[in-house]
Amino acid sequence: MVTDRNQGTGMPRIGVLALQGDVEAHAWALREAGAEPVPVRLPAHLDGLAGLVIPGGESTTLLKLAARDGLLDPLRRFAGTRPVFGTCAGCILLARRVRHPEQDSLGVLDATVERNAYGRQNDSAILETPTALPGGPLEAVYIRAPRIAGIGPGVEVLAERDGDPVLVRQGRILAATFHPELSSDRRVHRLFRDMAAAGTGAERAA
Ligand code: GLN
Repeated sequence: MVTDRNQGTGMPRIGVLALQGDVEAHAWALREAGAEPVPVRLPAHLDGLAGLVIPGGESTTLLKLAARDGLLDPLRRFAGTRPVFGTCAGCILLARRVRHPEQDSLGVLDATVERNAYGRQNDSAILETPTALPGGPLEAVYIRAPRIAGIGPGVEVLAERDGDPVLVRQGRILAATFHPELSSDRRVHRLFRDMAAAGTGAERAA
């Protein structure tokens, strides 16, 4: 079967895991970045997608809902071969090691992530964040954000908060501890759109 990941629009079709969390904001951001968002609620919805966004929300709830709907293994397989972008709870789901407390994950990002790491007083904040992305500092919206406490050698840091990575890339995997979909700056979604359009590893998935 021929799968046209652009379906004639010239825009990569990028899934947004639509179980819980800020799905609409990501869909909007993807449209603005030149991609076609596709809601993903069932394993079949992953077919033919150029990439997938796992939004923020509550990672424990996301895991439970994904398990209930038979999505955990399909998500693991997808993330093993295709571009995936996780924000906040999505970043927690991608990390290989999760602390505070420990929990299951898709395990595709070589990182240790600590949930709810900033304490009650600082748990939500909007900060100007220096970034390696061209175009100057990024506005970063943090909502009960996790902290990336450690990364493996293959992980590239694209932005930091107080010396901790907050935007990282490992090959086809992109993860942010903040919510770029809640700012008007589309650089992070454009980067992911380009990763998906480049089809990193997509050729291997049937
Ligand atoms: N604190 C949430 C969790 O641990 C993540 C918060 C978010 O996605 N905004 O899953």
